[in-house]
Amino acid sequence: MNLSEALLLIRGSVRNLKAYHLEPQEFRVKLNQNENPFDWPAGIKEEMGRFCVERPWNRYPPFIPENLKNELADYAGAKRGGIVVGNGSNEILLVLLLSLAEGGAPVIFCQPSFTIYRLLAEGIGARAVPVSLDADLQFDRVAICDAIAAHPGAVLVLCSPNNPTGGALDESGLREILSRHDGFCILDQAYVEFGGFDAMPLLGEFPNLIITRTFSKAFAGAALRLGYLAGNPEVVREINKIKLPYNINFFSEHAATLLLRQGDLLRERVALIKAERDAQYDFLRRCPFEEVYKSEANFILVRIREKARLLAALKAAGILVRDVSSYPLLENCLRFGIGTPEENEQVRTVIRSVFPGS
Ligand code: PMP
Repeated sequence: MNLSEALLLIRGSVRNLKAYHLEPQEFRVKLNQNENPFDWPAGIKEEMGRFCVERPWNRYPPFIPENLKNELADYAGAKRGGIVVGNGSNEILLVLLLSLAEGGAPVIFCQPSFTIYRLLAEGIGARAVPVSLDADLQFDRVAICDAIAAHPGAVLVLCSPNNPTGGALDESGLREILSRHDGFCILDQAYVEFGGFDAMPLLGEFPNLIITRTFSKAFAGAALRLGYLAGNPEVVREINKIKLPYNINFFSEHAATLLLRQGDLLRERVALIKAERDAQYDFLRRCPFEEVYKSEANFILVRIREKARLLAALKAAGILVRDVSSYPLLENCLRFGIGTPEENEQVRTVIRSVFPGS
C-alpha cells in the first residue's frame, strides 16, 4: 500500500478537520492563551519536587483518584461521586461527546465560541449545528431555544463565560434553556472563577446538565493539564466507562490537591485579575476602537479597524494577543488576555503609541 492509499483509510470526518494549532512565537508578555499570569510560589513547587523523588515511578497512579475527586467535589459544591477528572477539560469534552453523541447526531454550540467544540463534534462524526451569538455577541436565547426545538435530543454545548467574547449566561437564561431542552447540556465554565453565574447548584435539578471546569485558568495550572466535570453521579458512572484508565498522572493529581488548599492566595489573585480586567476595559473603551466587549472572564475582546497596525506594534514589543478575526462575526477582533498590572500597562503603552491621545 502506498502512502496516499493509507491516508485514505483515515476516517473522512478526521481528514476533513482543520487542525487546532497555535504557532509557537517568541514573547516577553504572553496574553494569547487566557492563562493566569501569576505562577505558584516556589514552596509549593519544592513540595512537588520532594513528592516526585519519593514516589515510585514504576507503579501506576491510583485507579481512581478518589481523594482528588472528593476534594474537587467539596471545592466546587458538587456531589461526591459526581466528578470525572481529565487531561485538561479538552479531554473531558472529548469523553463527553463520545458518551453522548452518536455518528450523525446533532451537537449544538454557539459561535463564535471555543473552537474545540466543532472540531471534536465533527471529528467523532457527529453533526455540528452552530447557533450565532446576537449582534452584540451575547447569547441569543431565542435562537438557542429554536435550535434545541429543531433538534430533539441533541447535545447542547454552552460556554459561559464565553471564550472569546466574554459574555455569560445568567441564571434565568440558563434555566429557560434547560427547561426546554430534552438532550444533554454540557456547560463549559472554564472561566467561571472570573465571573458569570455558577451553575453548580442547578445540577440537582437537571440530571441532563454537565458542567466542565479546568485548572488551566484561574487555578494557574495550565501545565498540569487537569480539567474535570461535575454531573449527576448516575450519569457520571456511565461516562466513566469510556474514559481511559489512568488518564491523570501522579504529578498532576498531587499538584492539584496542593493547589486546592491554596484558596486564600487563589482568591486574592483572581480578585486582582478581575480588577485589572475592569480597569483595562475602561481604558480600552476610551480608545478609538469600534467595539470593546464587556467581559466576565480574564480576557477582553476588541474590534479595531486598524487591527493589523496595532498587532504589528504589539508584536514588535514582544506582546502576544490572540487574533480572532477569522472567527465568525469577529472581523477585525483581537482578544487581549489580562496579565499582571505591569503587563497590562505595557499593552496600554503600545496602544497609546499607535493611537496617540488614547
Ligand atoms: N474551555 C474553554 C472555554 C477554553 O477556553 C479552554 C482553553 N482555552 C478549554 C476549555 C480547555 O482548557 P484545558 O484543556 O486547558 O482545561
